Amino acid sequence: MVSQFYIKSDSGSVECQLCPHLCKIKNERVGVCSTRINRNGLLELTQWGVIASSSLDPIEKKPLYHFFPGKMIYSIGGFGCNLRCSFCQNYEISQYVPQNIDSLRIVSPKEVVMKAKIHPNNIGIAYTYNEPTISYEYILEVAKIAKLDGLKNVMVSNGYINKEPLSVLFEFMDAFNIDLKAFTDNFYRKYTGGRLQPVLESLKEIRKSGKHLEVTFLVIPNLNDNMDEAKSMIDWIASELGEFTVLHLSRYHPAHLVYNPITPIETLTNIYHLAKQKLQFVYIGNVPNIEVENNTICPKCGNVLINRAGFYSSLVGLNSDGCCINCGFSVVTIEEF
Ligand code: SF4
Repeated sequence: MVSQFYIKSDSGSVECQLCPHLCKIKNERVGVCSTRINRNGLLELTQWGVIASSSLDPIEKKPLYHFFPGKMIYSIGGFGCNLRCSFCQNYEISQYVPQNIDSLRIVSPKEVVMKAKIHPNNIGIAYTYNEPTISYEYILEVAKIAKLDGLKNVMVSNGYINKEPLSVLFEFMDAFNIDLKAFTDNFYRKYTGGRLQPVLESLKEIRKSGKHLEVTFLVIPNLNDNMDEAKSMIDWIASELGEFTVLHLSRYHPAHLVYNPITPIETLTNIYHLAKQKLQFVYIGNVPNIEVENNTICPKCGNVLINRAGFYSSLVGLNSDGCCINCGFSVVTIEEF
């Protein structure tokens, strides 16, 4: 399979234009993500159709709290990533790309959709676990078939993708959860190998597209938990994406190359209360038994709309259109399925 977004140069090198790295790749070499190889001037995918993990998950686990709450979604992921986060919570698959894929089974897009349709309470397919952008051509193919079959498509991503390929996805994706890893370019360069601005651009493009969008911020002690920086991030989300943007504050656990302590509850609640001054829907994730900061409250009348326990949601105050039963305020994407 040949990549959709690249340009050739006279020297035999190619420039991949899928993500903001814009890797210039010599013959027989791969780009930063290790999943795109220059073969005699053609940029080819090294692991098209390789699935590292698949599972039927609660949609809340993505996390998406305002998109079909209480439903399940068939989730798939491959290997590799275009970022190099030293704190990656999923590094076993995201920071590893198998060298020899001949022994691995290729799962066709049709087969993925067939598996998704086996489950009766499943709303669609989530592209998650590792970074779906690096499997762009594959997930696009799956998403096209899934959409024709009436399934929803959800992308859980770091947002490190160029504008043109992202805009093509809008026709087929229904919802996005984008990781915003910090609010300084210095952090992005030092701890992820990427840059902040392209992620902000992706967030703005997704908001403009009208597709469902939620944002996740993994709070890491001593790395990105500075309250002034958190305030800048929250202000930016409120002004550029809107006060109704869903923000998930996710608890960090020591992993991969960073062994900072687990995020204290106090840090999460401090950022939660700061965010609530500007944003209507803020949640704390990865913490069992946290209730108030996990429920959805109607911003207009204060009615409890959704009670959550872990990944399970109880739609106590919503009608079948996703509006508050008390005042009619529209909050959540739900359709008859
Ligand atoms: S998708 Fe991979 S090869 Fe292409 S620019 Fe990004 S990191 Fe480089």
